[in-house]
Amino acid sequence: MHGDEPTATQAIFDILNFFNSPDFSEEKEAMLSNLTIHFLPMLNPDGAELFQRRNLLGIDINRDALRLQSPEGQTLKRVRDSLEADFGFNLHDQSTYYNAERTDKPATISYLAPAFNYEKDINDVRGNAMKIIVFMNNILQKYAPGQVGRYNDDFEPRAFGDNIQKWGTSTILIESGGYPNDPEKQEIRKLNYVSILSAIYTIANENFKEIDIVEYEKIP
Ligand SMILES: [Zn+2]
Repeated sequence: MHGDEPTATQAIFDILNFFNSPDFSEEKEAMLSNLTIHFLPMLNPDGAELFQRRNLLGIDINRDALRLQSPEGQTLKRVRDSLEADFGFNLHDQSTYYNAERTDKPATISYLAPAFNYEKDINDVRGNAMKIIVFMNNILQKYAPGQVGRYNDDFEPRAFGDNIQKWGTSTILIESGGYPNDPEKQEIRKLNYVSILSAIYTIANENFKEIDIVEYEKIP
């Protein structure tokens, strides 16, 4: 939805290529026989063309979840409501200068289960997003140890992630940050790919349900 945040769009096409390849047929069968997966790989193509955050009308789509003044916001709302999906992935890039808190390492990937109210309550919808994030973090620690962070969870009443969580879809925000000597973010693209794919796998086999939510709070 932010035109200058393209990393995850590339990762989505990596996932589509994965599904289209002959490899890992058993794992793919496990995923595709249990899940229906929809992709909206680029919500703001005009912004992407200009490499700018906002759409061509100058609207930040991620502050348009309630008023729905942008065609892109209307599209996203319509897609969300037509699917009533159990899980949703909200994909962004963040500053390459952010660190994983209290470490000297970059926050290469940051996760968030967005809050759905100011009190930051945890219901089943948000709790399931937290469990998926713990699962993804455990995988990513093998590839980028110490380089995973938890994004600020202050409630933003106009944002799509916060509202989609409120509307009943467990929402997982992934922010692609910085990685040393990777200005084109191609390493981060791989981490995105691994991360989303591992999430899809655990959603399909439901083993994320065993995860304790307290592990989520331990992510820096
Ligand atoms: Zn963004």
